[in-house]
Amino acid sequence: METVKCLIVGGGPAGYTAAVYASRADLAPVVYEGVQPGGQLTTTTDIENYPGFENGIGGPELMATMRAQAVRLGADVRTGSVTSADLSQRPFKVVIDGGHEISAETLIIATGATAKYLGLPSEVKYRGLGVSACATCDGFFYRKKTVAVVGGGDTACEEATYLAGLCKKVYMIVRRDVLRASQAMQEKVMSTENIEVLWNCNTQEVLGDGYGVTGARLLRKDGEVFDIAVDGFFLAIGHHPNSELFSQWVNVDKEGYIITDGKTSKTNVEGVFAAGDVQDPLYRQCITAAASGCRAALDAEKFLKMK
Ligand code: NDP
Repeated sequence: METVKCLIVGGGPAGYTAAVYASRADLAPVVYEGVQPGGQLTTTTDIENYPGFENGIGGPELMATMRAQAVRLGADVRTGSVTSADLSQRPFKVVIDGGHEISAETLIIATGATAKYLGLPSEVKYRGLGVSACATCDGFFYRKKTVAVVGGGDTACEEATYLAGLCKKVYMIVRRDVLRASQAMQEKVMSTENIEVLWNCNTQEVLGDGYGVTGARLLRKDGEVFDIAVDGFFLAIGHHPNSELFSQWVNVDKEGYIITDGKTSKTNVEGVFAAGDVQDPLYRQCITAAASGCRAALDAEKFLKMK
């Protein structure tokens, strides 16, 4: 069985940043990137809100650069996914791809979260071509255009009001006759002139011309089917934290987000740390994920020094 001082699970901004810091702290980190190296950012185009890039940078490019930086500093970045973990005692036992066993003195969980989609084939077809699950990432490309946001929670309301500042018109597609969002967010939506809420509506199909989104076909509860013309179709129906493999051991909230201790990355299991979207239901930004990866590596370093 291979023994490592610091095992990092996840190849997104949190995992790579943890790897940068852990490498510089001589923890010889081993990183498993999972099935989507680069994480959620590889599904976006330009990132204009990551500091340091005056003209923005492509999501895949930023991730490739972070990965290369970690490797240059000595991180052992590998392709593979954790398939099981036993965190009942230290060192922790982690199995990769159902075969390779690793004994880890510390573990940093940075497995991210996955945006929920409706599951329509047309939505898959136009993903990245008008269909997006991140208004903060992609909203800018729809300046002065018309977009739709699906969902009625705080994220949907926040994204709709954000988009309303950029776009000509924003439709909110809400499946019930009420919003789930907090009162304050609801009021904000209702008082924004260029947001129109389409109540009791479900999306049947995302419409497109083969190159990009041109509209959406909706089914209202009263049975009426109608089309709206939109250039962008944003999903905001929640995220799913990728914590299942570890939730038997680490405390998670009711949504599955790993609970960390105060401002640290410490979980309830000594020596296990969590970083990035798997422990962050609120901010979910590349920069906040990277920062929490930094915290996790510093916490792991301190933990190993103290023991
Ligand atoms: P939520 O789970 O709160 O809301 C999801 C929304 O999507 C609901 O309106 C839900 O409808 C709708 N939905 C779910 N599945 C479908 C579907 N298949 N088709 C159509 N609509 C669907 O997720 P959020 O991401 O909005 O929020 C997650 C957590 O983060 C919440 O606790 C929220 O309060 C918090 N948050 C806080 C913010 C803040 O304080 N600034 C900002 C953003 C999030 P229905 O209501 O019918 O179930």
